[in-house]
Amino acid sequence: MCANADHALERVVIVGAGIGGCHAARELASDHDVTLLESSDVASGATGLSAGIVAPTLFYGDLPDVARHANEFVREFDGTDAFSFTQRHRLDFVSAEEAPDARETVRELAGAGFDVTYLERSRLSSEFPRVDPPQDGGAILYEDTGWVDPYTYANALRSDAQSRGASLETGVEVTEIVTENGRVTGVDTTGSRYEADAVVVAAGWRTSDLLPEGFSLPIRPYRTQCVVLEPAEPLDESAPIGRIGSEHLYFRPEHNGDLLVGGAHETVSDPLAASSDADESFTRQVADVVPSVLSGFDDAGFVNGWAGIDVATPDTRPIVDQPPAAPDGLVVSTGFNGLGIMTSPVVGPTVRERLTGERAPFSTAPFRADRFDVSGSSFAYTSTSEL
Ligand SMILES: Cc1cc2nc3c(=O)[nH]c(=O)nc-3n(C[C@H](O)[C@H](O)[C@H](O)COP(=O)(O)OP(=O)(O)OC[C@H]3O[C@@H](n4cnc5c(N)ncnc54)[C@H](O)[C@@H]3O)c2cc1C
Repeated sequence: MCANADHALERVVIVGAGIGGCHAARELASDHDVTLLESSDVASGATGLSAGIVAPTLFYGDLPDVARHANEFVREFDGTDAFSFTQRHRLDFVSAEEAPDARETVRELAGAGFDVTYLERSRLSSEFPRVDPPQDGGAILYEDTGWVDPYTYANALRSDAQSRGASLETGVEVTEIVTENGRVTGVDTTGSRYEADAVVVAAGWRTSDLLPEGFSLPIRPYRTQCVVLEPAEPLDESAPIGRIGSEHLYFRPEHNGDLLVGGAHETVSDPLAASSDADESFTRQVADVVPSVLSGFDDAGFVNGWAGIDVATPDTRPIVDQPPAAPDGLVVSTGFNGLGIMTSPVVGPTVRERLTGERAPFSTAPFRADRFDVSGSSFAYTSTSEL
C-alpha cells in the first residue's frame, strides 16, 4: 500500500487513542486519510495510568538503534504543545553479589556509547544526598533517563496528528474489523461502519477481542500498581529516578517533591474484574522499603494509589506488525509490557514500514509477530522488573 499525490489518500482507521494509537496517527496523518477511533477518551487506558518513566537504554540497550531513536524522539518532541521531557539520572541498585554482572552491563552499554557508569555504595550518598541504601553493592547510574507526563504526551501527539489532518472521534467503540476476500475493508462500531484500506489496532489489552476469528497473538493482560508518597521534606532536583530490583519496585520524583513508586506485576484473566486501586499489601511494601533507600520517608504521607492493565508478550517486547496470518491491511500495535511510554516512538515508523514499505530508522524485526512460535495467552509471564 502506498499513498502519493496521484492517488486519493489511503484511508487508515486506527483503533485506540493510547500512546500507540496517537503515535501511529501522527506518523501517518501527513500522507494518509487517518481516522482515530477511541471508545472512551485519549489516554484513558494504560497510557493515562503510567508512571511515564523513560529509560530505553536500560530495556533496549541490546538494540542500540531502538534505544537511541526512543531517547531522541522525546527530546525532539519536548516543547510540543504542553509536552515536556524531564531529564533525571536513574539509579538501579544492586547487591554485592549482583555487582559483577552490573559492571559487565555498564561495560557493554558504555562501549555502545550510552551514558552509563557504575557507582559504589560509598559514592551514592555523596552524589545523591537523599539516597542511602542499606546493602553493600552499588548502583548502575544512567544519565540519559527521565520522565514525561503520559497524559500530556498522548494529547500532544493527538493534537499534532490533528494539525496534520487526522480526525479523532472519541466515545466510538469499534466492535468488529470488517474483511472481504482476505483483506480489511473497514470497521464496525456501535454507531456505524467506517470504510478503510488499512486498520491499525492499538487497543491495549482489548486488542485480542478485536482480532478476526481464527487468528490470535501471544499476548496476555497483566495488572501493575503505583502509589504516591509525600515525604516530610519535599524531594529536590538532585533526587534520582530509581529501581530496587530485589523488591521489584521503581520510583521517580514528582515535580512537587513527592515520590511516585511503582511495582507489583501479576497476570489477570479478567481485566474488567481487576481492582483499579492499589492493594493494601503493595502500599505496605512501599511504606516498608522506600525509607530504607531514601531518607525522609519514615513518616511519609500516602497521597494516592492506583492499578492499571497493560499487555505482556513472551519476550517482553511489543508486537507492531501486519501478521502474515492476518487479513491484508491489518496492523496491530500492542504488548508493551509496562514500557509503552518509553517504547512508543517506535510505533509510528514501524507502522509506516509495515503499510508502505518505507524503512524505519531502526530494525523493526524485533517487533514482528512471527518471532514467536506460540499464540494465545498460555505462555509464561516475565515481568520487565526482572530484566
Ligand atoms: C501503572 C502503570 C505504570 C506504568 N509505568 C510506565 C512507565 O513508567 N514507563 C513506560 O514506558 N510505560 C509504563 N507503563 C506502560 C504503558 O503505560 C503502556 O505500555 C502503554 O500506555 C500502552 O499503550 P497502548 O496505546 O498500547 O494501550 P492503552 O494506553 O491501553 O490504549 C488503548 C486504547 O484503546 C482504547 N480501546 C480499547 N478497545 C477499543 C475499541 N474496541 N474501540 C475503540 N477504542 C478502544 C482504550 O480505551 C484505550 O484508550 C505503565 C503502565 C501502567 C498500567
